[in-house]
Amino acid sequence: AFIASPRHASGDESRYKIRMQNYVGGSFTTTSTTDTPSSPQYIDAINPKTGRAFGQVPISSADQVEQALRTATDAFGAWSTTPAAARSKLLQRVAGLIQEHRELFAVWESIDQGKTLERARVEVDRAVSNFSYFSTFILHQQTAARVVDGSNILTYEHRSPAGVFALISPWNMPLYLLTWKMAPCLAFGCTAVAKPSEITSMTAFLLCEVFRRAGLPAGAMNVVFGDGATTGSALVRSPLVRGGVSFTGGTATGIQIRRDTADQIYKHLSLELGGKNPTLVFGDVELDRAVATAAMAAFENQGEICLCGSRIYVQSSIYNDFVAAFTAYVEANYKCGERVGAVVSHQHYTKIRSYLLLAQSEGATFFTSSPSSLSSPDTIIPPRTPPTATGSPHEIFGPVATISKFDTEDEAVRLANDNPNGLAAVLLTRDGGRMRRVGERLEAGLVWVNCWLVRELGTPFGGMKSSGTGREGGEYSRDVFTHVRTLHMPL
Ligand code: NAD
Repeated sequence: AFIASPRHASGDESRYKIRMQNYVGGSFTTTSTTDTPSSPQYIDAINPKTGRAFGQVPISSADQVEQALRTATDAFGAWSTTPAAARSKLLQRVAGLIQEHRELFAVWESIDQGKTLERARVEVDRAVSNFSYFSTFILHQQTAARVVDGSNILTYEHRSPAGVFALISPWNMPLYLLTWKMAPCLAFGCTAVAKPSEITSMTAFLLCEVFRRAGLPAGAMNVVFGDGATTGSALVRSPLVRGGVSFTGGTATGIQIRRDTADQIYKHLSLELGGKNPTLVFGDVELDRAVATAAMAAFENQGEICLCGSRIYVQSSIYNDFVAAFTAYVEANYKCGERVGAVVSHQHYTKIRSYLLLAQSEGATFFTSSPSSLSSPDTIIPPRTPPTATGSPHEIFGPVATISKFDTEDEAVRLANDNPNGLAAVLLTRDGGRMRRVGERLEAGLVWVNCWLVRELGTPFGGMKSSGTGREGGEYSRDVFTHVRTLHMPL
């Protein structure tokens, strides 16, 4: 049954002692024969706002992963040949059940991840959209067919589900990013073993109950809980993962997964990795709108979105005005506990703090509150803008953005592209010609002009350079989860 949530996201969660269980073959399974609360096979699920544990996440062993993969392999035959219309109905049911339990999912996401309840609700709605979008997408597929020039031979493309997948997601938007993989995987007829981040597993656990209630065939979607070193690594390496790996997470982990699967050439690899994204603010902008967009891009979800614009570059002509307006806007609109939640864990807090202290030691000016106001063991960090830490190519992944100047278009493009990552970019200008001139030169998979985080689920999603390989979304997801063969038939 669903686990009732506390009435609000910052209260009495510690009275819950939830022991999460893997979901394999349509049943919740006890994960270990020696599972005691103190056994090392479990780690605590912690509310970062309070520091209190509300549950335990099992660390599934390689054997348990293999068992789940065998179940997914057994289920593949029937699921991959289920008509698209029937798969579509089941996915609609999944979408409907998440929608019905929207508040339950949102409250638990906020407790587990630290994000605000309002932000969590947006992400639950997007999880619903993931299932409803792909449930209808598969009903409108077309096949390319043509006659070979000068002959009587018809050729056409045939697609079939690619096989069993490993789906692995990070902690920053747990339900949304996991369902971004699960929905197309199931829609295109693949089965999978999914592993959410060990730091934020709660909504994936609730989602298993949705699959059970929706009547999804046993084994089509299995969920194992655990860390990267034990569970994730066993999952990506297994030869039973015949289809591929769809992974979202850090660049270092993406590289490790590439190494671990290097000789398994049959596995498709979809890697959505880190970002350190630029926001370019040109002198012709309407200042108030530009400030609001740049602030949202920098600080939404505490800056814990891979698409956040954490490097802000402002044209010299408006630099002083922009900094003044930006500082005032952030202080008025990004208040801790309101629009700013807790960062995901104390460990992550310590990492962010170390970057801020480094910037301070290098002589950075802090436009908003300084690092001295940070006290361990807090996990709520007011947004900060140290301007001189721009040299750092590293993704801080917290409420921290740097601001610096540029003079010309060419300089703006050079600064924006001067980073190993290439996930997203924000371009703020009213000049239509510049939108195209600059937009088309930015090394980023996603460019947002005068907006941020607009998502249309059919557009290709993914990064350039170190931000990943492959694209997902609409037909691009179809390319991930299906194999295409070309038939040649004399008429
Ligand atoms: P992470 O790479 O540490 O972990 C991501 C997932 O991989 C977790 O489930 C983890 O358990 C698992 N994992 C770790 N090591 C593994 C291994 N060797 N084999 C298999 N699985 C392993 O990332 P994180 O800290 O959870 O997430 C933050 C990162 O994710 C940031 O870099 C952020 O930019 C990135 N991210 C990217 C996107 C995108 O779409 N490009 C979206 C969200 C987050």
